[in-house]
Amino acid sequence: MISDIAGLREKITKWQKADESIALVPTMGALHEGHLSLIRLARERCDRVVVSIFVNPTQFAPHEDFQSYPRDEARDLDLLASLNTDLVFTPTAQEMYPLGYSTKVTPGTSANGLETNFRPHFFGGVATVVLKLLNACTPDIAIFGEKDFQQLQVIRQMVRDFNLPVEIVGGPTLREEDGLAMSSRNAYLSPEERGIAGRLNVILAEVAENIRLGYPIKKTLAQARSTLFEVGFDDVDYLEYCQVDNLEPLNTTTEPSRILAAVQLGRTRLIDNIPG
Ligand code: AMP
Repeated sequence: MISDIAGLREKITKWQKADESIALVPTMGALHEGHLSLIRLARERCDRVVVSIFVNPTQFAPHEDFQSYPRDEARDLDLLASLNTDLVFTPTAQEMYPLGYSTKVTPGTSANGLETNFRPHFFGGVATVVLKLLNACTPDIAIFGEKDFQQLQVIRQMVRDFNLPVEIVGGPTLREEDGLAMSSRNAYLSPEERGIAGRLNVILAEVAENIRLGYPIKKTLAQARSTLFEVGFDDVDYLEYCQVDNLEPLNTTTEPSRILAAVQLGRTRLIDNIPG
């Protein structure tokens, strides 16, 4: 485990001199099988695997769950050791944002709409910390989950736009048996809410199927929003049928698409997405 950027660089330089390839998997800890699947993918692709654990304060709004976000470093380190992770990078907020720090990334058009309508600060914080992690680690590849699909596209766009010398790899979403996408925040769900939560993915699959069958897109989405309320979700932040790359809403099925949703369930906000 290394917590300072200088120490990380020293190790990375040694590997690079030995011509070893490096994969970075950025996380906020509270690791679950979804994270572990990305780390296994990293292991398949590269000689060295670096996992970062950093609960990034700049991507949380003041009213959000930064303080209460689940943290269990000892358990995370055990899991990472069991996967033979070569290096765990655990910077402090002070290391990432020392006194006087002030530069921020403005995310590109992939950040328009969807999450940004509800968490306007979010992608600026994510893009900034990911750029810093990429610069600190200089990996050959960096792996992100499709679970956070808009985040993945924002990062891909940043890497393209800034000519960053790294390949961004998307890993498939790991799910519980009932279809609920694994997430550290699922720990917030009460048993009753947990029963409802799995319905989100089922309803997204129905939307995909109905649109494939030729039902009108707008009507299908409106019906699915009503169904989400009927099965017990407290609010639907968005449910959209979007172009897969730029995430602009689509009115036709002529382009590759993605269906993305965010819902509220008690105090928990769940997001999910599937191919259209
Ligand atoms: P987080 O710790 O929530 O910031 O997630 C770290 C990385 O794991 C991000 O790239 C996420 O998209 C990814 N991730 C989160 N949940 C899953 C999941 N259920 N399946 C695959 N990847 C995931």
